[in-house]
Amino acid sequence: MSLFDSLKAKTSQGVSKALSSADRALKKAELNQQVTRIRSEIDARAMAFGQHVLECKEATQDAVESFLSDADVLATQIQDLTARIQELDEPTAPQEEHSLAPRCAACGAELVEGHRFCGSCGAPLGSD
Ligand SMILES: [Zn+2]
Repeated sequence: MSLFDSLKAKTSQGVSKALSSADRALKKAELNQQVTRIRSEIDARAMAFGQHVLECKEATQDAVESFLSDADVLATQIQDLTARIQELDEPTAPQEEHSLAPRCAACGAELVEGHRFCGSCGAPLGSD
């Protein structure tokens, strides 16, 4: 590979990395927006519930149960979204490193170049 070619490859690698981090940021913003929407949904339900209590002077069992189950569903949605946002926050492990290091087909251990047998399980390496 000529110097020019390897420079070009490095540059496009950088561009795709920048794109994927922009993509992540966009997804994160989207998820954050969903969390905000669900939070305001919970607020609305809480308000409606409070309104109901005011009007009826008491909280009927039905109203309490439906409010609690709604809140539960919404809280679970928020948990899911928060988990996905955290996933996006975590720097993804560089995958090139994985594919660069040769691994034993039998046990998956990282192989030392030049060795004819896997240092971990002893399986013979290479087809020749
Ligand atoms: Zn092995």
